[in-house]
Amino acid sequence: MDVKIQMVDLKSQHAKIKSELGNAIQDVIESSIFVKGKEVAYFENELSNYLGVKHIIGCGNGTDAIQIALLALGLKYGDEVIVPAFTYPSAIEVIILLGLSPIMVDIDIQSYNIDVRKIESKITSRTKAIIPVHLFGQSSEMEAIVQIAIKYNLFIIEDNAQSLGTVYTFSNGDKKRTGAIGHIGTTSFFPSKNLGCMGDGGAIMTNDDELARKIRKIANHGQKELYVHEMIGVNSRLDSLQAAILRVKLKHLDSYEAKRNEAAKHYDSYFENNEYVKIPFRNRYSTHVFHQYTISLSKKVDRNKLRSYLLERGIQTMIYYPIVACNQLAYSSKNNNILDFPMSELATQSVLSLPIHTEMNETLLKEICGNLIGGLRSQGLS
Ligand SMILES: *Cc1c(COP(=O)(O)O)cnc(C)c1O
Repeated sequence: MDVKIQMVDLKSQHAKIKSELGNAIQDVIESSIFVKGKEVAYFENELSNYLGVKHIIGCGNGTDAIQIALLALGLKYGDEVIVPAFTYPSAIEVIILLGLSPIMVDIDIQSYNIDVRKIESKITSRTKAIIPVHLFGQSSEMEAIVQIAIKYNLFIIEDNAQSLGTVYTFSNGDKKRTGAIGHIGTTSFFPSKNLGCMGDGGAIMTNDDELARKIRKIANHGQKELYVHEMIGVNSRLDSLQAAILRVKLKHLDSYEAKRNEAAKHYDSYFENNEYVKIPFRNRYSTHVFHQYTISLSKKVDRNKLRSYLLERGIQTMIYYPIVACNQLAYSSKNNNILDFPMSELATQSVLSLPIHTEMNETLLKEICGNLIGGLRSQGLS
């Protein structure tokens, strides 16, 4: 069976800006400066204006971005870094890769983000940093996280790969974009992200001049100047073609976000009175850019059956994420016990992400929602 409705529809999105993209790509080919071209500097500058953050440093991908951020903070072997237990695992992976220790914290079941009330009990004398992951398009509770970080002298790295453009409002009314709140923010331009390129790409952001210098150095083999290596770094670059493509797409990011929110509203209105489907919760302190539209299914629903029912009708769905991080073979350690993460476990059992993208329309939404209701009925739930 053909999958008619996929999680994202980049083909249609790109068709609408085909000539803009074509011209941008052609210009890079004309210049034939594919690495460290001017497009990268222009894009870094434009994104820094958009996000309201002083420095943007492009890099190879969103996972590298977190690794470079951790390297820049100069953490030592065995230092502990706090992360959510229900998450995309890039942060946990690079923490372990660098010889640091990931200390997982349960999530708030409404927002799916780290539960700030459960952070302090996990802090020890070795804790050096917190990495909140702004999941699905909404900010973590940054004001509380900033307060904890100040109290215990911790660094904050915001993993903003799913929430680029999200606005956080502090209790005094101040507003900031996610990624610009902590010491360092990171993001990914993987094609399916809200701002995606046509391959791999990522960026690191900070308001701190000193950190920015260090980050740029680390991403470039630790070079102070050509062939003068001051520290151990990595090779992680955003290339000129990706930067040129991202410059085009950044201009559309606000309208893309509006499209995603429109689709989310449609979904909400279909499901808000359905006892088997819980629609995504909106935090009072955060906008939502709906990288994912993730519903929570009641225990009565057989999620696998529902997914098959939808797939048989050409509709793709995904489970972001099926396994609590501490239960992954690669990330298990005595420091993290599944019994500590009941809400993360509940999330792995109940979440279902529905297609959401910039090309959604009423016909697609009606088809998805109608079939989802049909799937519930087929299980005797209506
Ligand atoms: C996609 C993603 C990453 C990793 O980005 P890559 O560019 O694929 O390395 C990291 N964290 C989160 C939350 C993500 O969604």
